Amino acid sequence: MDAPSPLPDGLDSRDLLNHLPVALALLDGNENVLYTNACFRAWFGTPHTLRSWWRTLLPDSSSTEPPALNGAIRAFTGPQARHLQGQRSVHGPWQVLCCTERDGGMGQQAILQQALVELETSATTDPLTGVLTRRRLEEASANELQRFRRFGHPIALILADIDHFKQVNDGHGHLVGDRVLAEFARRLETESRDLDVVGRYGGEEFVILLPSTTLPGACVLAEKLRRAVWENPFPQVGPLSASFGVAECQPGEDWHQWLGRADKALYAAKSQGRNRVEAAPGSTPTSTTIPMDARLNRLVWEEGHCVGDPVLDEQHRTLFGLAHELLQLIRAQAPMGQLYSVLDHLIQTIGQHFHDEERVMTQLNYPGLAQHIKAHRILGAKLDGLTRQSAQGSLSPARLLDFLAYDLVDHHALGPDRDFIPWLQDSGAANPYDPTP
Ligand code: GH3
Ligand code: MG
Ligand code: MG
Repeated sequence: MDAPSPLPDGLDSRDLLNHLPVALALLDGNENVLYTNACFRAWFGTPHTLRSWWRTLLPDSSSTEPPALNGAIRAFTGPQARHLQGQRSVHGPWQVLCCTERDGGMGQQAILQQALVELETSATTDPLTGVLTRRRLEEASANELQRFRRFGHPIALILADIDHFKQVNDGHGHLVGDRVLAEFARRLETESRDLDVVGRYGGEEFVILLPSTTLPGACVLAEKLRRAVWENPFPQVGPLSASFGVAECQPGEDWHQWLGRADKALYAAKSQGRNRVEAAPGSTPTSTTIPMDARLNRLVWEEGHCVGDPVLDEQHRTLFGLAHELLQLIRAQAPMGQLYSVLDHLIQTIGQHFHDEERVMTQLNYPGLAQHIKAHRILGAKLDGLTRQSAQGSLSPARLLDFLAYDLVDHHALGPDRDFIPWLQDSGAANPYDPTP
């Protein structure tokens, strides 16, 4: 038999048991309760023995003997009766008591599924900042490295480190320091594209992995991140800066060599005065990235873009139309006023579209729903930024182009939205434009 694999970092078996929506208790040979998990305590409190547990369940019962407990129990554990399925099993000197809800609407399969989802998120994301843990980041980088080696897709990474962060802790306390870290991570996520992977590498050091990106593109993003940190003071603390080291992966490099070059670049940024972006030397330009103009030309609607749901398709079509209109206005250097009114229409349509798309995905039990909602949230935050800038009259056409070409089309409409098509089709809503039988 294979040895059991160790639990992920930051998770022990008690966490695991506490995540299960199943009440568990461990009893000794005299039926004293040795251990209960969180669900057990929530349902039944903290009885000391099997008998006292049983009595609290059925205060009016004349029966003082706990039943065999392999079957249905009707227990009064709250305002109304709970229909439970109990099971008592013997394991050497111990007994394990296990109760699940019988008709709470969730089958065993669904309960396990939910527990696994919760476990997975608790093991993959850093609890303070919500971004990926170092371990998950390394896993993601391994996948990207494989794509790089196999298909030559370029990849770059940014190493970001808050400047003089120790002074934040020293001056305002660790708790405020923690909040700054969470806000810092939030800005990194908001500013990066939805295919980018943000992770916490350690303390106040973060890594952003950038698929399909060469060094110049990564430097543009790093500069955007630098400004997002520096130009908006942090609550309670005021202005903070961060330094960034950027490296594009080179043929033959492994993760540590690649990260090591980014680290050297970061060190250079620090020693040259901080609040700056430095690129690692030794990156050669590759020709696999799609240039901006070619990306923008894909803003034209084609029937092949249909996902098969009439409402969503109509919205997608409208969105492409509006984005295309914006593009023409920018290219013709039209007055900003005209741009703003089309942008406004686009933003409203996107809001409605996200709402409708999430509803359809929920109805179909689409497994990528959580990920997709996250992508919508990030796009939404970027749109909020654009709206703010257009309200202040400070929106630059270049920034708008960047959003349209990169975020909306390349990394959303032609990316995650398309992953959803097979689900819609399995549900019977045929895509009338799909050429494949
Ligand atoms: P530099 O500009 O050179 O990066 O200076 P710095 O002060 O930011 O760098 P240094 O690496 O010396 O200090 C990092 C500090 O980050 C020290 C450590 O106490 C703090 N830190 C690490 N993890 C956490 C955390 O989870 N919460 C808080 N509040 N502080 C943390
Ligand atoms: Mg630092
Ligand atoms: Mg540091």
